[in-house]
Amino acid sequence: TKWVYSFGDGAAEGRADMKNLLGGKGANLAEMASLGLPVPPGLTISTEVCTYYYDNERQYPSELKDQVAEAIKAIETSVGATFGDPENPLLVSVRSGARVSMPGMMDTVLNLGLNDQTVEGLAKNSENERFAWDSYRRFIQMYSDVVLGVDHYHFEELIDLHKDEKGVDLDTDLTADDWKVLVAAFKKKTQETLGEPFPQDVHDQLWGAIGAVFGSWRIERAKVYRKLNNIPEEWGTAVNVQAMVFGNMGETSATGVAFTRDPSTGENEYYGEYLINAQGEDVVAGIRTPQNLTKAAREKAGAKDLSMEESMPEVFGQLASVFEKLEKHYKDMQDIEFTVQRGKLWMLQTRSGKRTAKAALKIAVELAADGLIDEKTAVMRVEPGALDQLLHPTLDPDAPRDVLTRGLPASPGAAHGAAVFTADEAEEWAKAGKDVILCRTETSPEDIHGMHAAKGILTARGGMTSHAAVVARGMGRPCVSGAGAIRIDAKAEIMHCMGREIKKGDLITIDGASGEVMIGEVKTLQPELAGDFATLMEWADTYRTLKVRTNADTPADTTTAREFGAEGIGLCRTEHMFFEGERIVAVRQMILSETEAGRREALAKLLPMQRADFTEIFKIMRGLPVTIRLLDPPLHEFLPREDDEFEQVAGALGISVEKLKRQANELHEFNPMLGHRGCRLGISYPEIYEMQARAIFEAAVAVEKESGETVVPEVMIPLVATEKELSMLRQRVEAEAAKVFTEQSHTVEYMVGTMIELPRAALQAAKIAQSADFFSFGTNDLTQTAIGISRDDAARFLDEYVKLDIFAQDPFVSIDQEGVGELVKIGTERGRSTKPDLKLGICGEHGGDPASVMFCHDVGLDYVSCSPFRVPIARLAAAQAAL
Ligand code: PEP
Ligand code: MG
Repeated sequence: TKWVYSFGDGAAEGRADMKNLLGGKGANLAEMASLGLPVPPGLTISTEVCTYYYDNERQYPSELKDQVAEAIKAIETSVGATFGDPENPLLVSVRSGARVSMPGMMDTVLNLGLNDQTVEGLAKNSENERFAWDSYRRFIQMYSDVVLGVDHYHFEELIDLHKDEKGVDLDTDLTADDWKVLVAAFKKKTQETLGEPFPQDVHDQLWGAIGAVFGSWRIERAKVYRKLNNIPEEWGTAVNVQAMVFGNMGETSATGVAFTRDPSTGENEYYGEYLINAQGEDVVAGIRTPQNLTKAAREKAGAKDLSMEESMPEVFGQLASVFEKLEKHYKDMQDIEFTVQRGKLWMLQTRSGKRTAKAALKIAVELAADGLIDEKTAVMRVEPGALDQLLHPTLDPDAPRDVLTRGLPASPGAAHGAAVFTADEAEEWAKAGKDVILCRTETSPEDIHGMHAAKGILTARGGMTSHAAVVARGMGRPCVSGAGAIRIDAKAEIMHCMGREIKKGDLITIDGASGEVMIGEVKTLQPELAGDFATLMEWADTYRTLKVRTNADTPADTTTAREFGAEGIGLCRTEHMFFEGERIVAVRQMILSETEAGRREALAKLLPMQRADFTEIFKIMRGLPVTIRLLDPPLHEFLPREDDEFEQVAGALGISVEKLKRQANELHEFNPMLGHRGCRLGISYPEIYEMQARAIFEAAVAVEKESGETVVPEVMIPLVATEKELSMLRQRVEAEAAKVFTEQSHTVEYMVGTMIELPRAALQAAKIAQSADFFSFGTNDLTQTAIGISRDDAARFLDEYVKLDIFAQDPFVSIDQEGVGELVKIGTERGRSTKPDLKLGICGEHGGDPASVMFCHDVGLDYVSCSPFRVPIARLAAAQAAL
């Protein structure tokens, strides 16, 4: 079996597409060598050895030793030096290299091959005794730390002691003789700690380092990282052994890291830093401040130290042409490590560079414009979820922050403002021109006006589909929910958290993308929606087959959603239209009145308001389909709470406050989410749905008459469990439609359909489809009812469930494909078995989650519907699903 792959001198046994076998680093080193780029010669021990090692009680395959020896010979020939030769020693680096880069594992040992004899040879050949002894002590330090397990700080301590004795401050003040003394002290330290001398045999050193790399694959840190990032245990790591090149051989030597484009903005400018006379880890360690790569970057930063472009123009020119070559070859922005040894450039690594969403967009669009990649590839290059970063203000990554606590990232975007504790106050302060963050223990429908007025919302309780989260996402307001460490005392106008207090008016900042809550104002950056964003979205739209609609209840949300490219409304929650102002009193009057006459009186007040809203929404949607869901409030959301609210409603009903309180008490439900809501209300109080149907059809007729454009209302009945419920309510809607059309002498086309939100409905879909023109999967409730976990309360333990890997993700965020998804599949198949042309969509929060969107595409739904701000994410995810 071939276990070892050589590279160097313009040739290699491996290739970039052999990452599984050679790891990312090894595969790319091989590729660069084949491209004729200056890569120090080396060898890669394959990941199969790692697998073998763990399958065979940490033994290597028998052929390995010989294959490594042979590959080392090739390096020796190429470099003209011999491993372990006291006169002319070859030195190597040993690095791990998994398929994807993996922090936590053994990283690097440099200068391996140095011992008491070879250090003399290095001193002679480099004509630099200090360099040789400095290299040796670095090697002992690194090797002892990562291979032998003797902590770094022991050695730093010895260096500090020595510097104190000599009365100097800097490492650079130490001479060759100082390093000799320290090398002796280092070796003594290692011997004391381990009871064994530091290995002098270079082959022992090499196999020690190789063993350490393989061993580090299974250390705890690495395991945890793999778990968090879904990296399979079986992948294993490769080991790269490569001839050393030195960036610390004097003023014509240097080491650096670079990106071929700016990874934070995506600008087509080289970006990076370098250090003269330094070895790789000095750049990362941050002991010295690295210098800019280009003159332009240096001038922009106002730095004095010369850029590489200025101090080493010739080598910089070579480096620039390597950048060009690598980008053309890999067709992507590259992240590169290099070293200059006495004026000669060496490449140590290249890989696709990590980047922000903004950079990802710009780079994808520009590479496509340059013809390096096609539009499809560009569409695939941007992660849909990352668009969230772009659609909302974000925290300035460079701004300092004082993190108070963390909650759930309920609605993305960052905002800062004065903390206020009631919705009324939020509104007043906002009217006075102040930015506010509304802080509530939890939000309720009464808070809507305050949520609208606030720049952001913070709650101490509630999960990802809590009232605050759903409403905030709909409005595009940043929201952190369920920040459990916070205690809000709205009466005392103060909030406590972790021993600190925030008074009304104190500035705070929330980041709805991370869930962080910060004290004070952290600077934010505004989104940019034209340009590259618009271009990429246009390309995405040409590939997707799934339609994307929006969940919107107000003209404002509807307008935003249209701007983001929504192709209709998939869910208009009519109860949300009642949250505002006077309406809530009429709704409470309707819910709490004991007689049909009382309800009808309240409904008469609501009818014109509903009609006006629908009219406006139909106008904005201009002929696009609009799904209007009839009333579906969990009752508790509408019951009055405060005394003044009781007084208002009692007045409207003409009864005493005491009597009203009794009635409200009777309506109290222990589990309102499974209570008297949805179509059950329509069955009990048909006059409510009749009023709503009337409002819809009168609005549709009015808009058609006025604009001449067709309006396509889709009337949707929620929380249906049986076909009977649907057929009864459908009849009522049809009867009301017929009445309106006769009265108005005008007929509009419409559909009546249902939500599939209960397992029974999914199972009975074939029968239910007899009375439905369309289904919309309400996966918020379907998740709640299928798994048997409460939308409002599950956040308390779901976190732990995800940590323990019981659920890969919060099932309210990304659809549980095995369970809830199975019900969606069943509903789809059975529904279509009755009606092949049944229109199918999803309107739960999952409609804006990329993985769930891809699932919906695969199941064969016609559309997804999501909050306005997630429409672009769904468009891109749908395109990727189709490609
Ligand atoms: C659902 O249940 O998925 C849904 C969209 O309806 P709501 O969130 O209003 O219950
Ligand atoms: Mg629902």
